[in-house]
Amino acid sequence: MGQRVRRRYVKENTWRCSSCHHENLGRHTDCQNCHSPKETEETYNPVKPSSAEITSPELLKLARAGANRTCLYCGADIRKLNDICTNCAATRHEHREEIGADATESDFRNSTVSAPDLTESIGSNRRNDGDGNDSLPPIHRFNWPNLRTVLIVLGGLVTMGGLIWLCVWLFVPYEVDVTVTTVHWQIDRALRQKTLRHDSGWRSDMPAATFNESCETRQNGTENCNPHDCNCHEVNYDCDPHDCNCHEVNYDCDPHDCNCHEVCHDNSNGFSDCSEVCDTCYNTCSRRECDTCYNTCSRRECDTCYDQCPVYEEWCSYNFYEWPVVDQASTSGSDLNVSPPTLTAHGLDQRLDQSERYEVNFDDGSNTWTHRPENLSDFSRFPPTTRWRIKTNRTGRVWPLHPLN
Ligand SMILES: [Zn+2]
Ligand SMILES: [Zn+2]
Repeated sequence: MGQRVRRRYVKENTWRCSSCHHENLGRHTDCQNCHSPKETEETYNPVKPSSAEITSPELLKLARAGANRTCLYCGADIRKLNDICTNCAATRHEHREEIGADATESDFRNSTVSAPDLTESIGSNRRNDGDGNDSLPPIHRFNWPNLRTVLIVLGGLVTMGGLIWLCVWLFVPYEVDVTVTTVHWQIDRALRQKTLRHDSGWRSDMPAATFNESCETRQNGTENCNPHDCNCHEVNYDCDPHDCNCHEVNYDCDPHDCNCHEVCHDNSNGFSDCSEVCDTCYNTCSRRECDTCYNTCSRRECDTCYDQCPVYEEWCSYNFYEWPVVDQASTSGSDLNVSPPTLTAHGLDQRLDQSERYEVNFDDGSNTWTHRPENLSDFSRFPPTTRWRIKTNRTGRVWPLHPLN
């Protein structure tokens, strides 16, 4: 159970005059009945719960001034606020010279001189921390990304420059004067004969041009059909959530102050600092708490099954033409005297396929290039040992420009 201070306030003590036994209020330093000064032996009585709180500013000033001192000359109480003894008129200065630094004086100095020193040093430390936070981190935070960005950009530029230089080196053509060293040609001919074929199969697999078809419907396998429920079974699941196992639960509620009492500290100047201290107490409340329970329900679950139904398609017998190779011949040579094979086609039922390949090799004394002419008229421009100016690049492509005289 925690304690808390509800409020703080000041109360006034009393003291009893040893000469006439009159009870005086703490605000007076001389007896209000016989006028004899209050002496230190006439101690203050503890405050009574019934005594009133002090609110007037003058009395509060007295209450906060610190403990009274004792006059060394006459033994009367002197308020800390006063420099001169109200009883014998001895000054505070004389008092200090007589006894040197007494306890009250050093207390006074500590409380007034040391406190500003402390706060100032705390303040200057905080100011240094503030400077560090404001100036140093931003330098690191903003400079490193800049340097990294510059390096990345530089690296990118160098890489791009290298790539561009490589492309130029590879693809930009240059001219060379060369000599035709060797030439080569080859001509292939294939003779095809139109041939009637007969076949049968599913319509979806038939070739494009057929004739004399005769078809019938046949079963070509099966497929899934008539979907229906199967393998049905009951499945249990939780349903109908409802409260169950309900019971009352007690808990602390309505926190409030209790066992309040007064605690006072004597300031040794006719006043006491008091506070009202209370415990925190709780009432006992209760609430209803329940679990959530479920019933067990069940539902029917089924798989989907299929029957197997036959698939029907057209099965056909049909005729079609093919052009198989029945004869082939090749000629080749290493000069410009190109002569095709003598193989030829006769009539509409024969067909001749021909393919030609030409090759010209250049040499400039240290490098060689190969040019592949598209047709015979291009090929015949390159008699061996003639000189040519060609354009080329480092991928090996060749563009013949013109012969040299
Ligand atoms: Zn008195
Ligand atoms: Zn005195």
